[in-house]
Amino acid sequence: MRDPFKIDQPTCISFSGGRTSAYMLWRVLQANGGLPAEAVVCFANTGKEVEATLRFVRDCAEHWRVPIHWLEYRAAEPGFAVVDFDTASREGEPFEALSEARSHLPNPVARGCTTSLKIRPMHRFVRRLGWAEWDQFIGIRADEQRRVSKIRARGHSTESTRETMCMPLAEAGVTVQDVAAFWQTQSFDLELLTVNGRTLEGNCDLCFLKPRGQRLALIKARPEAAVWWIRMESLKLASKPSGARFRADGPSYADLAHFAADQRDLFDPAVEPITCYCGD
Ligand code: SF4
Repeated sequence: MRDPFKIDQPTCISFSGGRTSAYMLWRVLQANGGLPAEAVVCFANTGKEVEATLRFVRDCAEHWRVPIHWLEYRAAEPGFAVVDFDTASREGEPFEALSEARSHLPNPVARGCTTSLKIRPMHRFVRRLGWAEWDQFIGIRADEQRRVSKIRARGHSTESTRETMCMPLAEAGVTVQDVAAFWQTQSFDLELLTVNGRTLEGNCDLCFLKPRGQRLALIKARPEAAVWWIRMESLKLASKPSGARFRADGPSYADLAHFAADQRDLFDPAVEPITCYCGD
């Protein structure tokens, strides 16, 4: 049987900064005796990743001696910038620049942020390498059946038919338990709380797709995290009146911060986050 981690053609390994995609990278390195010449590893930073995620990406590169390209969205050509741990945005600059360029905030109906902040910078980066067609390795596990079926049915990303989506973890039957067991044996780890395999602060810290109760709990734990999201909702953009929100179907971030300060609890552990490409 073919080893799904084996690489023999141009391949972009999408590293979200979470444990699952890091494990995928480790399996690639094991299967190929290191990073094959035809492969690149990319991490797209939105500027709203928490510091522990940035440290984890840096640590994976250092511990496993593998180059990881840190990319960020830019409005100006070529549409991305290459940064590193020291120069990476930490105040949401790429996210804010995108909102300004589009004149509105992303929301659950017209999301766009995953595509513009993560997928397109990677596409642009590999095209600048001269790639016309390539495989895109994404860290989706076998236990994420809904996402697996959806991506398998499509075959390529929503953005490019020249990119073949590959899910080696799902193909190899890797589950959340396997990933957790792996990280228990490592000398370093992502220093973020995980509940039932979900890293609550993973991806953008207060992503509007996270359940309301989860965002509230995160604001309670770190009230300063809400400041940027509140400011973005108060921004006036060409197509966005001041006060227009990330989610019209729930409280504003300012309200969530007030609830958090009042110690009221909106947590509903049954509510699942809306899935997106942003990863684990
Ligand atoms: S984590 Fe959420 S807010 Fe950030 S890019 Fe992904 S969908 Fe958008």
